[in-house]
Amino acid sequence: MARYTGPVCRQCRREGMKLFLKGDKCYSDKCPINRRNFPPGQHGQGRKKVTEYGMQLREKQKVKRFYGISESQMFRAFEKADKQKGITGENLLRLLELRLDNVVYRMGFAQSRAEARQLVTHGHFTVNGHKTDIPSYELSVGDEIAIKQSSAKNKKFGQMMENRGNAANWVSVDTEQFKGTVSAEPSREELDIPVEEHLIVELYSK
Ligand code: SF4
Repeated sequence: MARYTGPVCRQCRREGMKLFLKGDKCYSDKCPINRRNFPPGQHGQGRKKVTEYGMQLREKQKVKRFYGISESQMFRAFEKADKQKGITGENLLRLLELRLDNVVYRMGFAQSRAEARQLVTHGHFTVNGHKTDIPSYELSVGDEIAIKQSSAKNKKFGQMMENRGNAANWVSVDTEQFKGTVSAEPSREELDIPVEEHLIVELYSK
């Protein structure tokens, strides 16, 4: 199934929590979760009973929506995580965190993951000196992400750098040079996603 392209805030309301998909609006009073924190739709306020399968499904949907990925991308990441050493659920989240679009967002080069994805697909970034326009590109520790020289001259990027948010602990950013490096793999404690990833593993392991 293709990536969801419908109303964005509806996804947060469906999950009953802020997924921070819209940049500044998510931190303002305009966030619909502050006013209508119940599932969208005619029967939104009537749904109460949740089965075990329902809980597993919700956790998976939460992660898909948080990172803005499709079902097939999610399942491929799970298969890869399952083959790695360690805890599968944590491996899965780490793999998703190391996607290029997410790292661009974590470095503060974009206000949201959706904006980061668009900037990547428009070819504004290089990875280790090579132009890379694939949002799902998997990064490793030591990789350097830079804004292309021609893009860095663009006023929009200059403003973005002035308004940029804090970078995650596991990346280092040089705002003067418009670049950043993945300095470590993120640990589970460093990931702010409110999800019980073991339920996703249970779902996919059926
Ligand atoms: Fe919309 Fe952001 Fe609020 Fe989610 S957190 S409902 S994306 S404004």
